[in-house]
Amino acid sequence: MIAYLEHFVHGNDTESMQNDDVLGVEGSFHFAATAAAGKDFGGMKSAKPLAMIRPSVATDVARAVKAAARTANLTVAARGNGHSINGQAMAENGLVLDMRAMEDRLTLLSLDDGSLHVDVSGGALWEEVLRRCLSEFRLAPRSWTDYLGLTVGGTLSNAGVSGQAFRYGPQTSNVTELEVVTGKGETLVCSETQNSELFFATLGGLGQFGIITRARVAVQSAPDMVRWIRVVYSEFEDFTRDAEWLVTLKEGYGFDYVEGFVLVNSDDPCNGWPTVPMGPNQRFEPVRLPPTAGPVLYCLELALHYRNEDHLSAVNMEVHRLLGRLRFVEGLNFSVDLTYMEFLLRVKRVEEDARANGIWDAPHPWLNLFVSKSHIAEFDREVFKKILKHGVGGPILVYPLLRTKWDSRHSVVVPDSNIFYIIALLRFIPPPPKGPPTERLVEQNHEIIQFCCNRGFDFKLYLPHYQSQENWMRHYGDKWTTFVERKANFDPLAILAPGQKIFSRIP
Ligand code: FAD
Repeated sequence: MIAYLEHFVHGNDTESMQNDDVLGVEGSFHFAATAAAGKDFGGMKSAKPLAMIRPSVATDVARAVKAAARTANLTVAARGNGHSINGQAMAENGLVLDMRAMEDRLTLLSLDDGSLHVDVSGGALWEEVLRRCLSEFRLAPRSWTDYLGLTVGGTLSNAGVSGQAFRYGPQTSNVTELEVVTGKGETLVCSETQNSELFFATLGGLGQFGIITRARVAVQSAPDMVRWIRVVYSEFEDFTRDAEWLVTLKEGYGFDYVEGFVLVNSDDPCNGWPTVPMGPNQRFEPVRLPPTAGPVLYCLELALHYRNEDHLSAVNMEVHRLLGRLRFVEGLNFSVDLTYMEFLLRVKRVEEDARANGIWDAPHPWLNLFVSKSHIAEFDREVFKKILKHGVGGPILVYPLLRTKWDSRHSVVVPDSNIFYIIALLRFIPPPPKGPPTERLVEQNHEIIQFCCNRGFDFKLYLPHYQSQENWMRHYGDKWTTFVERKANFDPLAILAPGQKIFSRIP
């Protein structure tokens, strides 16, 4: 069988075939796409797979995993939309499953407790889930990512975080059932009460325990419109105090979305004042900044949902009431009204611009961290104000999350404190030689991680990437033993998600 595959791979790279006879997997081997399967959004790693398989249903996925298990060294990587940074969805000489090829499905369910859910494919893009939920049911999932060109299985393998997570938790806290193909090739339905260990392991499990073929996602009535707001701070202390207050407000009493970002205190078009205004007629007036303002400023990004039938005066009053409690720089507030769909697809516009400028396909040495509230001021002093004082050529996100909204039974690890911050360095820079060498930026990421380690910060990498098992052990801390036990239970030969580089394939 392997000889057959190798022969095929080295043949015409543009071929594809129906292959009931190869590996016994229905669907098609699609060698034209192997080049794509060896790349990701990070643009820094590449790994040539043996084959790319386009599964249609869970049975195809199970057959591929079972076939790999019968060999001494084949691995299997589910590839969502390949938006990892460090090769996490790759499988060198292994099988890459293109999860986007899975049959499109979306079923609405009303459960006994009155809650509403949709069953969606693990390979569906969140953007597709949004469009269908809105157009067919006027419903929507509660917790999102900023960018929706990511698959359900891809984000649930990490966490899935955006400005709604303070209220509903990450996306992993908003699914009640999964269908998973384990590393043994078993297809199991799991939830908090059925195969619960697999359910908890898979959520945030970096693809280590099973391949998500279906997820049951909580949905709720969707708003029609959104008031999207930005307010600017010169002092980090004011910014964090306000952000932390906002994330503790109950539903109906505060904003529906709370995020924040750091910007450079200059007219730099990519990193500075021009990144704040939200419409063509809005201007950032730096004269409003106090003389105490330092090298960087902070912007809270907020949103309030409303319905078409709501009176705008009521929306204005509510916004006014909430903003009135905040200590941003007077006059440095901006807002626009847009549909809920436009709001959730806001990063798609960034994508279109970045594609046009050639920076979407350039390397993206991104860094994502969770840092505890107790260390965030020091992080600001040393990292934002010093190391990153010239910006990263794209957004530097920073906003608080509540630990109570994260389920400690899931595989993902977060800092110990009740409030911790997500920090995302979303570097969008022209490829070298126009931009700085990618290695220098990777080096800067290491410098920041090293700084956090040296100061003994309570922090974790989000979307983690390590080279050695010692580092993975440190990452998982007291959850490492459970992680290893779960691996032994659900993927004993370490077939799955080899690109995470946590375990080696057992012959
Ligand atoms: P891939 O990169 O294809 O896969 C990621 C990992 O999950 C791999 O190990 C893969 O094997 C595994 N995997 C994929 N599908 C499955 C499956 N069905 N079952 C089991 N394992 C699977 N994250 C946030 O939390 N919030 C954001 O706002 C956010 N914005 C982003 C914006 C951009 C432009 C980019 C590039 C990334 C962003 N991310 C964000 C990070 C993103 O959530 C992760 O990189 C995610 O893994 C990407 O999803 P994907 O479908 O492309 O997964």
